[in-house]
Amino acid sequence: MNILTFDIEDWFHTHKDRQYYSGHIWKELPSRIEYNTDRILSMLEELDIKATFFVLGWVAEHHPKLVKRIYNKGHEIAAHSYWHHNATLIKPEDFQKDLIRCVARLGDVTGEPVKIYRAPGFSLRIKNQWAFEILASNGIIADSSVQIRKGKINSPFIIKTEEQEIVEFPLITTSFGLPYTGGGYFRAIPPKLISHFFNNDNYKLLYFHPRDVDKDNPYSNLFSLFRNWLNKLNTGKCIDKLVPILKQKPVYTIGQVLKDKQLILTDNA
Ligand SMILES: [Zn+2]
Repeated sequence: MNILTFDIEDWFHTHKDRQYYSGHIWKELPSRIEYNTDRILSMLEELDIKATFFVLGWVAEHHPKLVKRIYNKGHEIAAHSYWHHNATLIKPEDFQKDLIRCVARLGDVTGEPVKIYRAPGFSLRIKNQWAFEILASNGIIADSSVQIRKGKINSPFIIKTEEQEIVEFPLITTSFGLPYTGGGYFRAIPPKLISHFFNNDNYKLLYFHPRDVDKDNPYSNLFSLFRNWLNKLNTGKCIDKLVPILKQKPVYTIGQVLKDKQLILTDNA
């Protein structure tokens, strides 16, 4: 089972110490998100595939027409926080405020409640598991914020909270911790090795960003040298590398799997 997801954030949303700069400087930077997300939408249209789009509340506020385009093409709109803060670095009350602001901005665009969430950087862990109570009490029924090494768990699982159950769609890495199914790691690993990993695992959560397909990602002193290098690495080849994997259907959205839990059971049989 391939579950296809995109985190809709601009190239500058991952910069270091963003908790101090946030939107003060973002508005001044050249935006690349509309051009690159539209290229992703065209690719999906050609392949006749739907995906789950985790959208920043900040993006919904500043690029509402883009989010509307994603929605109108029949893709699933999910929340990726408002400010893109790492959830291990913020207090529960700030996490809740950020979540409420994000789902409100997404709801402004789609007119629908948001039910699926992903924390920036897959940053929900044991130490901030309080976040699941906050998610559940704000209407979230599925989450995709946990990163786990292959072996212990290899599929979606249930997290019990006081309010309701949340279905967790974890990012499963290789047994030695490589999150090969998306982002810079997918771009960095040679195609043969990527095929080997993909063929060896049943459940795979694919995660990409508009910057992954942008060969013209700007250089910025907001980033470390490593981040600047990673932002450029094989971005011109990413779509060509991804398309053959997506052609090996089935590819699902998170919502499709939630509707038909049999899919999970069948996949693990
Ligand atoms: Zn993100």
